[in-house]
Amino acid sequence: MDVSKNIPELFGSMVFNDKIMKERLPKDTYKSLHRTMELGKHLEPSVANVVANAMKDWAVEKGATHFTHWFQPMTGISAEKHDSFISPDGPTSVIMDFSGKDLVKGEPDASSFPSGGLRATFEARGYTAWDPSSYAFIKDDTLCIPTVFYSYGGEALDKKTPLLRSMEVLNKQALRILRLFGDTQTTRVITTVGPEQEYFLIDKSLYEQREDLVMCGRTLFGAKPPKGQELEDHYFGVIPEKVMDYMRDLDKELWKVGIFAKTEHNEVAPAQHEMAPIFTDTNRACDQNQLTMEIMKKVAARHGLSCLLHEKPFRGVNGSGKHNNWSISTNTGINLLEPGDSPENNARFLLFLTAVIKAVDEYQDLLRVSVASAGNDHRLGANEAPPAIISMFLGDDLTKILEAIETGSEYSSENSREVIKVGVHILPRFAKDTTDRNRTSPFAFTGNKFEFRMLGSDLSISGPNIILNTIVAEELSQFADVLEGAKDFSSALDDLIRKTIAEHKRIIFNGNNYSEEWEKEAECRGLLNLRTTPDALPSFIAPKNIELFTKHKIFTVTELHSRYEILMEVYVKRLNIEALTMSDMVKRQILPAITRYANDLTQAALNKKAFSESIDTAFELSTVKKLSSLCRKLTDDTEALEFHLDKTHEIEGVTDQANYIRDVIIPDMSAIRAAADEAELLTGAEYWPFPTYTELLFSIR
Ligand code: ADP
Ligand code: MG
Repeated sequence: MDVSKNIPELFGSMVFNDKIMKERLPKDTYKSLHRTMELGKHLEPSVANVVANAMKDWAVEKGATHFTHWFQPMTGISAEKHDSFISPDGPTSVIMDFSGKDLVKGEPDASSFPSGGLRATFEARGYTAWDPSSYAFIKDDTLCIPTVFYSYGGEALDKKTPLLRSMEVLNKQALRILRLFGDTQTTRVITTVGPEQEYFLIDKSLYEQREDLVMCGRTLFGAKPPKGQELEDHYFGVIPEKVMDYMRDLDKELWKVGIFAKTEHNEVAPAQHEMAPIFTDTNRACDQNQLTMEIMKKVAARHGLSCLLHEKPFRGVNGSGKHNNWSISTNTGINLLEPGDSPENNARFLLFLTAVIKAVDEYQDLLRVSVASAGNDHRLGANEAPPAIISMFLGDDLTKILEAIETGSEYSSENSREVIKVGVHILPRFAKDTTDRNRTSPFAFTGNKFEFRMLGSDLSISGPNIILNTIVAEELSQFADVLEGAKDFSSALDDLIRKTIAEHKRIIFNGNNYSEEWEKEAECRGLLNLRTTPDALPSFIAPKNIELFTKHKIFTVTELHSRYEILMEVYVKRLNIEALTMSDMVKRQILPAITRYANDLTQAALNKKAFSESIDTAFELSTVKKLSSLCRKLTDDTEALEFHLDKTHEIEGVTDQANYIRDVIIPDMSAIRAAADEAELLTGAEYWPFPTYTELLFSIR
């Protein structure tokens, strides 16, 4: 490996970024491409041709032979179909060719991507279209062009299209607000995201011995190891050399494709780690996070490791999440969620802040939907991740300021006691550590951004950011409607902020979100507690949310219903696979292993008795008895599971199927697991058919 290569040179070396564009494109082309990137303006075909050619030349110099339209279908992972640059040049020779048309539009055979009924198979065509606002990059000798993916009828089939729409809407509404504050400089408002990514690393050869990990990404069995995470000695602990090598290598691979990987450390659970990138605009952050997950897995394989991105690979051990740090910025470099230095800036900050408060309160259901998945159901509310209840942490200082504003009472800070008037007073600065102390909140203000902490580690971050952008844009549009019509801006602003705080403060909670008291208190406050995916998903197509999405043209009604279907279907399919894997492992691995051990014990007891009638065989006898009754239980429970699985397939409609799975299949699976885990602890280690938790979690040192 070329360790000496300096990092600034390495960084972004595989990205067709702004610097390269400037170097390689004619001035005019560069300018019109920039206009397209920043303002979403249409790109002329002639310009596209020039860009395509420059891109191809650059890529070929870097060793690329193929290109692909890289897109994010509803499977949650990225998809690509590779075409080579080769084009015939006479009967015996070829040239490397890539036209503007190739760059701008593609037609992958898309019939087997989920569409939720949007595309009947006879109309299976799907198109990809270049997204110039995210840079093209090279991966595996292939030029990857970020694209959106849509159907013949124009409906979005991917996660990027609605994200771009939501960024557009937020831009539009935020600009209305900024103009009211006299800001004529800003021409574009974007949201920014820095997703912190947790993951597990385990030995690859152990991984391969576990059908559940291979098929489902998580363990369906496994007794609790004698040592778990209770000592918390893993958190920020010394990183084992093997993992260190992995992280170094990962950093380099990420840097090459322009991802600002910055921090890496051990997490709370054994074998768990985290990677945090530096934030960027939401569109690129989403693309980069998809790429990060892919590269994490690939680099792991190179090191004889397996990278688990499942939200909950091990029971009794913390699952993995993803923290979506989100903020709003102007193209003039202002972070709109940062308290300012002047009274006017503070008024603006308070307006954006209260817009977020109102958004989170009114659309709790959608935020919950945006993180719902079969895997995340094991995590939310399990004393390790925030509960399924959405609330907001603002910290005591900011909460007191809002209270003072609402009631018109005095706020005392270190150096003064005053009645804070919006637009008249400067807010005190909040030290980061006063806003960052609560790690249990699902949605926390951390000084100049919000951290949405309910995401599971393998989730595409597009969903949650589509929701965040849209719901905040909606509140900003309501605010702009009120303020644009006001006779006296400052008093209208004051009233609006006061009123919004009063009406939505129930969503603010600074205490311990993991406590039982909070669950009760949240109920009294009327906050939602949607525990499972089938509980949460119907909100996606609730009338108020359909109205929101269609008003801002984020999703059409058809798109919403199709996405709802897809999400429910994924839940059903995932659990179906888990259930089948479970029954397979019980019948073909666990029962035979226990039987072998029980047989050996029986044989040992018989031998002992033959040797001398008086030798004690209580151990053999009682263990065989216990194991036999557990085998009986495993057999019965697995039969019940299979019977119920057949029933699931008879149920019509994916919603009812999902509910049945939640109510019947999941309890069946819990019963099987309990019996198997009990048997594991009674069975000789060398008999157990696959690696145990201790081996999986403590094998890398
Ligand atoms: P730390 O927690 O290490 O002190 P920060 O709080 O600065 O670090 O950042 C945590 C994550 O939040 C990082 O991924 C960072 O890039 C991201 N982040 C910081 N500022 C913003 C912002 N304005 N918008 C979006 N994400 C941000
Ligand atoms: Mg964090």
